[in-house]
Amino acid sequence: MERARNNLTLLLAAQLVEVYRVAGNTDGQVRVLLRMLVSRHEGFAVEHVYVQMVRVLREVAAHDGNKVVHLLLIGLAECTRRDGERVGLFRSEFLFMESDAIPSEEAQFEAYKKVAIALNGKPVIIRTLDIGGDKEIPYMGLEKDENPFLGYRAIRLCLDRKEDIYKPQLRALLRASAYGNIRIMIPLVTCIDELREAKALIEEIKAELDEKNIAYKKDIQVGIMVETAAASLIADIFAKEADFFSIGTNDLTQYTMSVDRGNKKVSYLYSTFNPAVLRSIRHIIACGREAGIMVGMCGEAASDPMMIPLLLAFGLNEFSMSASAILRARKMVTEYSVEELQAVADKAMSFATTAEVEDYMRKFVEKITG
Ligand code: PEP
Ligand code: MG
Repeated sequence: MERARNNLTLLLAAQLVEVYRVAGNTDGQVRVLLRMLVSRHEGFAVEHVYVQMVRVLREVAAHDGNKVVHLLLIGLAECTRRDGERVGLFRSEFLFMESDAIPSEEAQFEAYKKVAIALNGKPVIIRTLDIGGDKEIPYMGLEKDENPFLGYRAIRLCLDRKEDIYKPQLRALLRASAYGNIRIMIPLVTCIDELREAKALIEEIKAELDEKNIAYKKDIQVGIMVETAAASLIADIFAKEADFFSIGTNDLTQYTMSVDRGNKKVSYLYSTFNPAVLRSIRHIIACGREAGIMVGMCGEAASDPMMIPLLLAFGLNEFSMSASAILRARKMVTEYSVEELQAVADKAMSFATTAEVEDYMRKFVEKITG
């Protein structure tokens, strides 16, 4: 038992040395932790050091182009419970789904303000309304689409209903941004015109707020979800005009594979490990990094232990997941060396089928976790 603990300590120390190497002599916190680990093998809680180390890893992340990692939460309840972790995806449609009518600007403002305050200055990415597709809201009176996932949904609907839906939501978001670090995220974009139109609306509302002397975060970030095949293919174009990317693998897989994400009969085709989806993800991350913007992931794949090593190797910056997945993900994030991951990713990308990739990644993870 004692030996195992010492081994774990040494392993942690070795990892911390790696962090230290990356951070250089500038980061005092790393040095303090390093000393603590190497000189005191006994009498401290390993788990505590581990958590500290992950924190340091995150903080020094900016120093290492290959390993920039934030683990984010999904949802408000979790973030308030966890006392102010970052939030990578706040689905604003829940406010609409819980209500009997379109929530007023005021009601939305109060809800977003609450989130901003709860986060206490840490970033929270709030996605503008994403309904349509599989998410219906009876009071909106939307006609049934022949192909709901290819139809009137998310940003398409919002840009068509600026006056009663989109402007009030954007105004509420901007007003709430005065209370914290809100970032706005636009879902389901397929062409740059949509992003430009949304950004123009935001500028218009900012001007109105200025006129009325209403506070908002002047440099609020506006990013996009990259979750359609079209957006992925022109990710380099989007990267020049979006402040950040968040990859929505739930939809990206659906739209890349042309498979309805809820249809069991074709679910065998729905895998993020399909080489086409993996290439798309790798491409999006590369385009974002090339342009120097943050690239995160808020689809289910971000918390998949078999996917995390690949995402780290591709250079993903932010992983959004539910609170219950974070501890395990933390372990994965700290357990791999960049060199090892690069080789694993190269191998995984050399396979032609989903089954081969999955099999390879499963074995890799089993080997690591014992
Ligand atoms: C996604 O598509 O990956 C995503 C996070 O959004 P949603 O599942 O709400 O469409
Ligand atoms: Mg989506």
